[in-house]
Amino acid sequence: MSETGSEPTADPADLFRRQRDLILMASGDGIYGIDCEGISTFVNPAAARMSGYTMEEMVGLNLHELVHHTRADGSPFPCNECPIHEATRDGKVHRIYDDVFWRKDGTSFPVEYVSTPIWDGGRIAGAVVSFRDITDRKRAEQDLRDSEQRYRAMFDGSNAAGFLIDAETCYVLDENKRTCALFGYDEAQLRRLRAEDLFVGAPGEIAAFWQKVQREGAAETETSYAITASGERIPVRLSASRIRYADRTGLLVLATDLRVRREMEARTRALQSELHHVSRVSAMGEMASAMAHELNQPLSAVMNYLGAARRLSKAEFEGDSRTVQMMEKALTQAARAGEIIRSLRTFLDKGESETEFASPYDVIHDTLPLIEPAVAAAGLSLSCELDPDVPHTLLQRVNIQQVLLNLIRNAAEAMSEHKGGAINVACWSSCDQIWVEVADQGPGLSDAQQARLFQPFNTSKSDGMGVGLSICHSIITDHDGAITAENRPGGGAVFRFCLPVITPGDKT
Ligand code: ADP
Repeated sequence: MSETGSEPTADPADLFRRQRDLILMASGDGIYGIDCEGISTFVNPAAARMSGYTMEEMVGLNLHELVHHTRADGSPFPCNECPIHEATRDGKVHRIYDDVFWRKDGTSFPVEYVSTPIWDGGRIAGAVVSFRDITDRKRAEQDLRDSEQRYRAMFDGSNAAGFLIDAETCYVLDENKRTCALFGYDEAQLRRLRAEDLFVGAPGEIAAFWQKVQREGAAETETSYAITASGERIPVRLSASRIRYADRTGLLVLATDLRVRREMEARTRALQSELHHVSRVSAMGEMASAMAHELNQPLSAVMNYLGAARRLSKAEFEGDSRTVQMMEKALTQAARAGEIIRSLRTFLDKGESETEFASPYDVIHDTLPLIEPAVAAAGLSLSCELDPDVPHTLLQRVNIQQVLLNLIRNAAEAMSEHKGGAINVACWSSCDQIWVEVADQGPGLSDAQQARLFQPFNTSKSDGMGVGLSICHSIITDHDGAITAENRPGGGAVFRFCLPVITPGDKT
């Protein structure tokens, strides 16, 4: 154009200045220049737009005082500490990736900037500053951190031990907290382990499991064991799936601890078998009740015949002969059999636990014949110190009988090695309370047993259910009483419960 056109040729220096100005004006980054005193010599539109000022308002001012006076934490930012100005002193380029600038309206925005010294004939003439609003970048970084924390929390919050292994080397790359807890290794130790070091199963099972994951992308097994740092084997449900991340392939492994589930299953099985036992016993109870009813009549007849025979013998032999004596003994034994049958019927017939105003002495007295045969069969005896004058109280007869039977049965079982020994049953009253005690000469109670004695499913017996004492506890608590157990000084255990004396008028 300069050669052929009529327009005068443009001065190259003017052209250069014009191009430089156009670049400065068009740049999306904020750009401004300062002299060695920090006074701005030029400001581009982006710098003015971001700061909320006009270019005219910014040129000729100390821009540190205008847009850079306060740090992100709100503390003052002295000019002599500012890296932008430092460039005019040390002649070096200063880059800062995380700072804030302040707008005219008093709000701030995050920036990254670079301050480059301007050299003029070997002297520093000032600095040019280029800055960028990094709000979007910071938000994206924060979103990334939030997302990372969210996924970490989900991973760590899983009930299963979860970890990622490299699909090729099978080394552990990452793991959640439960993995460390389950295996007893810290993170550094886990990183040195390969997946195959962590599990065992039936011969070939684990190898087949890993092959299936690699081949089909997923596999699971319920019959493997995690091997902990201490060598313990913990039953686990193992599942793994192939995943892609950052252009790599990994295997995500989840191991769920099956101990609690197995324990629950065993307990359910035990409960079921106990339930069957209970239903058998209850069927037996019904038969016993019917038998007791049926036996009552012939027994009454036997007693009547014996009574009549005794009267006849007395008349015939005039007084006390051996025959009369034997008949009296037979009558006493028949009366005792009748007493046992009566107690049995009361205990079995009263399915509903009705509250009645009764003498605890009577209740105990009626209960002992029921358990005496079992005690005797175990080679033991009952010795009783029962105060017949203990006051009446409101009680559920059958339930109190059940407590007593449980305590005496436990005492007899504890004394299985003490043939010939005695179980002491005592009953007395003091301070408006009725006390009942069952003491044995067994091995007594360990500290551990005492701590959990009345909790359900606590048993030291291979065939025990561990519910007897917890039932005793709830029965006595229902009566507003208390039950305790301790060791006797001379050996053996003593179980003691108290019932408050409550008359029908006391209860509303
Ligand atoms: P179970 O008799 O089925 O085990 P219990 O609840 O009646 O259930 O008793 C719980 C446990 O308390 C027993 O297994 C036993 O270890 C302990 N225990 C109860 N009574 C006595 C006792 N008289 N002497 C020693 N230990 C006892």
